[in-house]
Amino acid sequence: MTAVESDSGVLAGEERMLIDGELVHAAGGAFFDVEHPASEQVAGRVTDGTVADMERAVGAARRAFDNTDWSRDVEFRYHCLMQLHAALDRNKERLRRILITEVGCPVTVSGSQIESPIEEVKHWAEHGRAFDYLQDNGVHETQLGPARRKLSYEAIGVVGAITPWNVPFYLNIAETVPALMAGNTVVLKPAQLTPWSGSEYGRIVAEETDIPAGVFNVVTSNANEVGAALSADPRVDMITFTGSTATGRAILAAGAPTVKKTLLELGGKSAHIVLDDADFSSALPLAAMMACVMSGQSCILPSRILLPRSRYDEGLQILAASMAAFPVGDPWTPGNMQGPQISATQRQKVLGLIQSGIDSGARLLTGGGVPENLTTGYYTQATLLADVDPDSQVAQEEIFGPVLTVTPYDSDEDAIAIANNSIYGLSGEVSSADPERALRVAQRMRTGNVSINAKSHFGISSPFGGTKQSGLGYRNGEQGYMEYLDIKTIGMPA
Ligand code: NAD
Repeated sequence: MTAVESDSGVLAGEERMLIDGELVHAAGGAFFDVEHPASEQVAGRVTDGTVADMERAVGAARRAFDNTDWSRDVEFRYHCLMQLHAALDRNKERLRRILITEVGCPVTVSGSQIESPIEEVKHWAEHGRAFDYLQDNGVHETQLGPARRKLSYEAIGVVGAITPWNVPFYLNIAETVPALMAGNTVVLKPAQLTPWSGSEYGRIVAEETDIPAGVFNVVTSNANEVGAALSADPRVDMITFTGSTATGRAILAAGAPTVKKTLLELGGKSAHIVLDDADFSSALPLAAMMACVMSGQSCILPSRILLPRSRYDEGLQILAASMAAFPVGDPWTPGNMQGPQISATQRQKVLGLIQSGIDSGARLLTGGGVPENLTTGYYTQATLLADVDPDSQVAQEEIFGPVLTVTPYDSDEDAIAIANNSIYGLSGEVSSADPERALRVAQRMRTGNVSINAKSHFGISSPFGGTKQSGLGYRNGEQGYMEYLDIKTIGMPA
């Protein structure tokens, strides 16, 4: 019996969603199953929201924004979000079990997906309380004499938040908490594969906080049309979305008729430029770990490794050895760092892309299939492909699996050109013994974020966003809070 089977508290649920302050079942009375990807067993079921449910949730959020003081009462919002922080912290072991159950995330690495976002709730509550919502912009000369201008920072209105399955609890928090603290009302639509993290978040808000009815709503659904209905609804002022570039395009198009503000964090295909003076013995095992630790299901993973031709074989050997030794297995077992892919479909997609790489001339150095001892669960071997053509499908498409592609380069210029040969621009990495040289290379990469020598670019206090087709706008940092505010400029007597 695995740990998930023994936790009837998690398993028994027929999880409800939160609309207008009530935990409810879907209008049609239907449910959909949640599968545990490590056992291939149905782990529970969640209410299957319809377009009608979404319309009710948007109506509730609209009324809560228009008819209550939520958007104007920053002290009350602070009180509610600090309550939420405490409530999430009380429930964190249950949230962790749900995360492992629906994603297959290894318990060993679950801290960044549970403890960190819970701490972020407190961060945003404090940040939003300290924010100066009415700023003096000074005296300006106009044709009619001097005018004093003030900048009034105000909530945008109803925010629709749509999240993906790879880091569900973290992204549910990251998309909704700054929006709420800024005074907006919110409708959250979690991903089909990971609805529990969302429904549990809704339950905690309803039962353990004073957040008023309609301010925060969660609609779980197995149908893409329900997210589409949210992104097209004229009563919604803004969509904040994390997911694939294809869905991001559809959301932009759906919001165009009502000119919705749209914040998009999309796909990536990031490059890691390993310069010829880099310390391979530290940089490359870390690169292998990054590729495997979330089963490769990470948007910011630098999955294209660019190695100098002068040290190509040395680099390949280290990467292959590190990947082959990576601890893969049951996510409930402490020590395992790589769990399964989230679904049979996702694993099939990963294996198909590996095969497309081999068909286009890449050399398979390790992995390439299913681990022999892990035939139940959607496990994939950590896979290293060498001699990858930068224009091939496997070098251009996001894989979302534990796969690294390696391409040799001849000069720094050459490496920068290969790194920039992508429709995406989410993150990247440079390794070098010379941080200034690495910085010059990083500045030439057309991407939103870069780490040098594994010094992370990612964190709550710094803006995070993609360039090119990886996104629009920012999460985190001051910019990430301002995304959820409109600026009203007021001219008044000087
Ligand atoms: P997805 O785009 O398939 O789905 C994301 C969400 O959009 C889900 O909730 C889904 O139900 C909803 N959706 C689907 N069609 C819709 C439509 N027409 N209108 C409105 N909503 C719709 O993405 P996924 O497969 O769940 O997640 C993986 C993707 O997310 C990868 O591309 C990954 O790179 C990206 N991602 C990006 C970041 C980032 O910060 N840039 C972070 C995590 C994941």
